Amino acid sequence: MHRALLPALLCLAACGRPARGPWATDPDAPLALGETSVLWLLLCTVRADHTGPWGYDLPTTPTLDALADGGVRIRRTVPAGAWTRPSVASQMTSLTPRTLGIDPPREHAFTDVYRVVPEAQTVAEWFDAAGYGTVGVSANPNEHTFLGYGQGYDAFVDSDAMTGHRPDPEDKVPSRQVSDELLGMIDALPEGEPFFGHALYVGAHAPLGWWSYVPHPSLGFLGTPAQNYDRSIRRDDDELARLLDALEARGRTRNLLVVITSDHGEGVLRGEREGHGVPTYNAQSWILWMMAHPALPGGTEGQHPASGVDVLPTLADLLGGPAPDLTDGRSVRASWEAPEAFTPRPFEVTETAFDGTLRASVVDDTWRLVATGEPPTRRELYRWREDWLEQDDLAATEPEVVARMEGWLAAWRAEHPQRFDARLDQDLDDDARKQLEILGYVD
Ligand SMILES: [Zn+2]
Repeated sequence: MHRALLPALLCLAACGRPARGPWATDPDAPLALGETSVLWLLLCTVRADHTGPWGYDLPTTPTLDALADGGVRIRRTVPAGAWTRPSVASQMTSLTPRTLGIDPPREHAFTDVYRVVPEAQTVAEWFDAAGYGTVGVSANPNEHTFLGYGQGYDAFVDSDAMTGHRPDPEDKVPSRQVSDELLGMIDALPEGEPFFGHALYVGAHAPLGWWSYVPHPSLGFLGTPAQNYDRSIRRDDDELARLLDALEARGRTRNLLVVITSDHGEGVLRGEREGHGVPTYNAQSWILWMMAHPALPGGTEGQHPASGVDVLPTLADLLGGPAPDLTDGRSVRASWEAPEAFTPRPFEVTETAFDGTLRASVVDDTWRLVATGEPPTRRELYRWREDWLEQDDLAATEPEVVARMEGWLAAWRAEHPQRFDARLDQDLDDDARKQLEILGYVD
């Protein structure tokens, strides 16, 4: 083959669309509350190590790659919760699930309903207070107005509101529908005024839809669960490209800060714990967090580990706005601006009571402790970097490490008392229940 043609063909196959970015067209745009619009896109179930900005070697995310070129990503972000409802709540309020009282030990996760209480300040309320138009759309019924996630939005579209648009009502809400709903709501906002737009996509959430089986020119044909997962991520990424292109065509990308996060990962490789919610190991607990804007240094990485509760305080800091009313997070801006002056937390915690029992994953630079119960009655300990599948439980042979990390966990729990009574004395409506069934949350 011709020498020059081969790289071009490889690039056609692997590189996707060229680096692009409407966010780069307005280099003098100030990052400022009241001037900068914010688009916060949350990709349910997308683990960072299957995306380009975090070094994956398959072309799953050309749009995220371009966004990373135009902004900052955080090297390692740990979710505060292990499934959508608590993890999304922790990002939207900067409060841990424990503080919110949203994921306590209970009989059954979905017959005992917990929600974001009205007293908690959400990111949409934070922007609403600053005079922003606020619109949101969620394809996952765990982020639902019924559960308090619509607080602060001028308009919010729930997953069940999109039911009628789905080609197959037994399937998930397609990501294309999510982008279209968000575009429609942004179109209805007054031009020239800043907006906050949020969308939650579920394309990569199990069960993987028909789109994961459709051959992709960059990612091949039918294959392993991991390959199907990768194609699902790619199709969500394609939707982000379509959304950003449409916003650019409408002039809505002027001074736009794009924030990308995810809520938890998924076990897809041989040997990994399957699913998410209860398992909180490497496959589940490395989430996306990046921010793109012309005023941010492109291609930069925040050097230190962070938590999902840090996103909102960091946005507040970047935009020069007030800190959230109550927060468990902090701005990690210095993590990329002055890493030598930044003191990371010594550990991060993910808590979950998805199956009714409280479990915590405590992770530091070397170790992961998985502790069941409060106080713990069962412990696992892994060297998570070297033992990526976390098969070699060292709890019995490293009692000092276990004791140290359990001490951290006890102190952390004491510092994060439950602040709200989040129990909701109503059942989920039938549409939301049906949506939860589709995603495998309810039997
Ligand atoms: Zn999720």
